[in-house]
Amino acid sequence: MNLWIFDNDGTLYDDSGARKQFNQLLSAYAKNQLGIHPGSLSDLMARLQSKHETRSSVVAFAREYSIPIECLIQQTYGLIDLAAAQIATEEHLSETLEQIGGTKIVFTNSPSQYALRVLRHLGISHHFQNIFGMLEIECQLKPLLHGYQLVQKAYPDFKQSFFVDDKVGNLEGGGKMGWSCMLYDPHGLNQSQETRLKSLMDLRTIAQEVEVLNGDL
Ligand SMILES: [Mg+2]
Repeated sequence: MNLWIFDNDGTLYDDSGARKQFNQLLSAYAKNQLGIHPGSLSDLMARLQSKHETRSSVVAFAREYSIPIECLIQQTYGLIDLAAAQIATEEHLSETLEQIGGTKIVFTNSPSQYALRVLRHLGISHHFQNIFGMLEIECQLKPLLHGYQLVQKAYPDFKQSFFVDDKVGNLEGGGKMGWSCMLYDPHGLNQSQETRLKSLMDLRTIAQEVEVLNGDL
């Protein structure tokens, strides 16, 4: 049996509308609760992310202002209106996920309750056995190795593990775990040497080739 590990934002769905809303919600929270002027937010955030060694604005805010992270998650990710954000996924993704078989999980830097809401909205949540999100990986977001190690520890016994992410920098950690890593790059923007997927449908071919190699057919 193979394990398929998917990033969520920007991989299983186009997150541009949701990200825009997230930024607006974070800006409103910073202004209303912390008195931070929206014009100074991006500089401040860059500084706090560097200071707290995280790529997450939510984690940086929680640490800097001693705010419970669940509260920040609720006031940002929790308020994203997925219908208004017009989140969409590739056509036939549900069939693709069905056809590749194996066990599938999500490994995302966003909170898992947000990821679950997205997957349900897209009608594909039933394909996934588990979600490792921001809190499950103890806020040590990709590309930090801790999250990869937790995933690997929870799912150690698979013949082969595949990992798909839309960020080149996130693939290296997967490589260190021995996973077969693929960059999701639907617009062909990246020149990296990594295995690139223009469509998640390409996974069907990869799954078939692996089955043949393993003599599973
Ligand atoms: Mg992503």
